[in-house]
Amino acid sequence: MAKSVRVSAKPSPNPVHTDGDGNHIHNLILLRLPLQERELISPKLELVRLKTHQVLHEPGDTLKSAYFCNTGLISILSVFPDGKSVEVGLIGKEGFVGVPLVAGFRTSATRAVTQIEATAFRMDGETLVALLRQCPHLERLLQQFSQLMAMQVTQIAACNRLHEVNERLARWLLMSADRVASNSLPLTQELIAQMLGTRRSSVTVAAGMLHKAGLIDHRRGGVEIIDRPGLEDAACDCYALMQRQTKQWQDA
Ligand SMILES: [Zn+2]
Repeated sequence: MAKSVRVSAKPSPNPVHTDGDGNHIHNLILLRLPLQERELISPKLELVRLKTHQVLHEPGDTLKSAYFCNTGLISILSVFPDGKSVEVGLIGKEGFVGVPLVAGFRTSATRAVTQIEATAFRMDGETLVALLRQCPHLERLLQQFSQLMAMQVTQIAACNRLHEVNERLARWLLMSADRVASNSLPLTQELIAQMLGTRRSSVTVAAGMLHKAGLIDHRRGGVEIIDRPGLEDAACDCYALMQRQTKQWQDA
């Protein structure tokens, strides 16, 4: 069970960046809400710590909770009956886990698992569904995030099929770094291989190429991005395409 801290209903001293208990809000969906809606939903939120490898839900599970990711990194995986899995989405502070609830669905089609130790504001799934009727801005922001996730899933599916491991690794490192706002990623090659749905030996070779080119430093237990523009050049087109589409929608 995730360790939780109850978020109180008392008015926030800083209505923009903290909740009622002084916890810093980094989640971009919560930060974009008008104050009136924030005050409505704050009493229903609970800040929880999510350990690395903690599974939030499996395919077919009822979505008892929704999570507004506040720090850290959460992966969305497609899982097969033989146990194999591949990552199809990445969620950080910009996002939310529980997208089917926004459309009125109660179960999940995917696995959500913490990749880098995270904190999230958790809300009961049924409570969220009920609140959406009273909070049109929240509903709109979650619909927009659902669309961004659909775009990301589509692009990653194409990427996994069409692009080389070293390009995909560069794309994946950039996406992860964006979501945790850090160039230092505490992720092992074993884990990266699982996420990319490829052999660990292929990731070792690809990481070696990026290291040799001076783009990353990889050591036991982690990867450091050294040359970000260089890594963007080394990534497949998918990273730039997703960035461009996201910006276009956000500017619209
Ligand atoms: Zn790609």
